[in-house]
Amino acid sequence: MEANGGKVAEPLQEACGIVGVFAPQEDVARLAFFGLFSLQHRGQESAGIATADGQHIFSHTAMGLVPQAFHEFDLQRLPGSIAIGHTRYSTTGSSLAKNAQPLVTNGAHGAVALGHNGNVINAAELRKELSLEWGCSFATSTDSEVILQLLANAPGVDWGQRVAYLMRRVQGAYCLVVLTPDSLIAIRDPLGVRPLCLGKLNGGWVVASESCALDHIGAQFVRDIAPGEALLINQEGPKTIHNGNEGRSALCVFEFIYFARPDSRLDGRSTYAARVEMGRQLAREHPVEADVVIGIPDSATAAAAGYSQESGIPYREGLVKNRYVGRTFIAPDQRIRELGVRIKYNPLPEVLAGQRVVVVDDSIVRGTTTPHVVEMLRRAGTKEIHLRVCAPPIKWPCHFGVDMATRRELLAANRTVEEVRRFVGADSLGYLSLEGLYKAVGKPREGFCDACFSGRYPIEVQLEMDKLALEHS
Ligand code: SF4
Repeated sequence: MEANGGKVAEPLQEACGIVGVFAPQEDVARLAFFGLFSLQHRGQESAGIATADGQHIFSHTAMGLVPQAFHEFDLQRLPGSIAIGHTRYSTTGSSLAKNAQPLVTNGAHGAVALGHNGNVINAAELRKELSLEWGCSFATSTDSEVILQLLANAPGVDWGQRVAYLMRRVQGAYCLVVLTPDSLIAIRDPLGVRPLCLGKLNGGWVVASESCALDHIGAQFVRDIAPGEALLINQEGPKTIHNGNEGRSALCVFEFIYFARPDSRLDGRSTYAARVEMGRQLAREHPVEADVVIGIPDSATAAAAGYSQESGIPYREGLVKNRYVGRTFIAPDQRIRELGVRIKYNPLPEVLAGQRVVVVDDSIVRGTTTPHVVEMLRRAGTKEIHLRVCAPPIKWPCHFGVDMATRRELLAANRTVEEVRRFVGADSLGYLSLEGLYKAVGKPREGFCDACFSGRYPIEVQLEMDKLALEHS
């Protein structure tokens, strides 16, 4: 893999995790901290929390992992009963301290802070309009600040009207947590590309990118925020203030394959169970004579167990992962990614030597790490390497918050399966089919985005995008 949660390395970068807490009587900054800690896999470049006490907004952001970004005294300086938090992987704008979120501004309706997961397609045009016609100035090079300025200065007598305006103007993927001095607003774009859910906590409320964050801070899952929904939470509880659903949705199917944690539930479906099924389905589609099945830890472990169950080939741990090395795919720079592969995994010759091994991985994106992993397995004495991938070939760029912006960088974009096999050095290679993927997810294809596999985008996009476009402009 490369991508994900425990991947081998390479790949995909998710574009952030967000959390929001409304809980009078609680230490909301600390709850947001632990929520972010469980969403660390969604972004490792920077982290931040903003809180509100009814009158003012306070914030702290810093580069690095959540525990690096916050010390005890940082949390103590974040008072109030409402908090939002953000972990970042940059898909628009560089990995710089000034681009760390939550972003805070004083707009036409007072102070507002915002955390964003996703990617706005028309950010450059909107930014130009906001600068020239609304007189907004920008401190960052992110699309998130465009959303913040648009919302903070939007026409409308209340937040429901302002969110409706925002949704009419912004195209793309955006899950947002918005903080005002006295309320929390959670917003999911009309297609629901990125996940966002609501939980209940001791008389308070929590929203988060994934349900695992609710579990970790002791909140009970209530429901997913619907595509197009804006939920305002204040002393009176949560209230839907806008419903911009367009009658269709496009949840990123890659969340099931790699991004989301296995202990999260998306749209009512366990990602762990879906991954086990992906492995079973791979075994049906690409059987092979072999002695052992291994998974690239951690994201392909569940699928490897599924392949083993279906095929009857015993499952073993063939690679030991250094748990203190972050997801390599999260590293924004290619050179750092490659270095990361070598220190991240160590093969076990006791399991691999002389064996015909099925190696299950979650995905192959750029192909910068898979050849290194194959070579590592060969050096450990593996006799045959049969690579099985829980996703179809990735041929198209993502415009919705995952860092694969151009076709050129995608290994399978212009190669056959046989050419990819030769490139990575495996003895055989099998990708899960798109049909098989949806069988494993257990839901119909309508309702999902699978554009990076199919080229079928849920909204019109430019085929090449520039992650740093707002810096250049
Ligand atoms: S293009 Fe791929 S990674 Fe991007 S949102 Fe769609 S399914 Fe997810």
